[in-house]
Amino acid sequence: MTAIYASGYAKLNLYLNVLGKREDGYHNIESVMQTISLRDDMEIIVGTGEPWLIDSDRDDVPRNEENICWKAAELFFQKTHIDPNGLTVHILKRIPMGAGMAGGSTDAAALLRALDVYYGKPLSLDELCLLGAKVGSDVPFCILGGTAITEERGDKLFPILHDPQLFYVICKPEASLSTKEMYDLLDRDGIPPCSDTKKLVNGIRNHNVQQIAKNLYNVFEPLAVRQEPEIAKIKQQMKQYGALNAMMTGSGSAVFGLFESPDDAFKACEKLSKKYPETFLATNHIDED
Ligand code: ATP
Repeated sequence: MTAIYASGYAKLNLYLNVLGKREDGYHNIESVMQTISLRDDMEIIVGTGEPWLIDSDRDDVPRNEENICWKAAELFFQKTHIDPNGLTVHILKRIPMGAGMAGGSTDAAALLRALDVYYGKPLSLDELCLLGAKVGSDVPFCILGGTAITEERGDKLFPILHDPQLFYVICKPEASLSTKEMYDLLDRDGIPPCSDTKKLVNGIRNHNVQQIAKNLYNVFEPLAVRQEPEIAKIKQQMKQYGALNAMMTGSGSAVFGLFESPDDAFKACEKLSKKYPETFLATNHIDED
């Protein structure tokens, strides 16, 4: 029996547009995703000799087969023909759920990476990403991490170098939003025209924080504000407390404020957390591996 430890990092969508619905029912998206330092921690025990078990410190995280990590592990052991002789995964959950921060996907990605390292890398990074895409569209990005333009279902990735450290305050209102319902609303209402990722990506490449801030975008945000007006209030407070700009991430409901100064970010986080318990301070996270 061996315990291994892994962390799954949350993502933010600095830019998110939907291009249209595909024949397979998924949507093609165009996004710029960013890994941040907010993370879940996992204890993974292999060789327990017992039936598989997945649980968490948070009661609303699905257990066992319902947890996205179960399918990821099943696919990994099928593909590699390895018998783990029992698997237990304990998830210490910090990433808010139903927030648009890929909390489930990043746990699955961290588990896949950890198992691959533990068993001597039977799968390449590309193979792991292909496997991850079968579990969820955000899983390949979560496996690679960093900053990337993502296309198609979100599983076609173009990494971008993002050096300067930026600070994010993330604040989730009490209500969560369902990704499926948000896509249904978008299909019903139609996709509004918008500019592409070029200005944002140039801002990232040129380390121009003002240009990054000015070009944050999320196609779901106006729809989400109609469902949950608190999102607009949080955005407004982020700016009042010094954010260069603020935007919803993914299909909501979390909002992030972008700060250049850690001091401003810290103070904004303190103020917002008085009203919203799920408020966090984070930076962009770069994997050292
Ligand atoms: P995304 O940004 O990928 O759209 P999200 O951040 O909005 O996702 P998640 O936190 O990933 O949402 O949770 C969505 C649902 O996935 C949860 O309500 C939960 O039922 C299910 N789920 C399965 N496994 C996990 C997990 N390990 N952690 C969190 N949620 C999980």
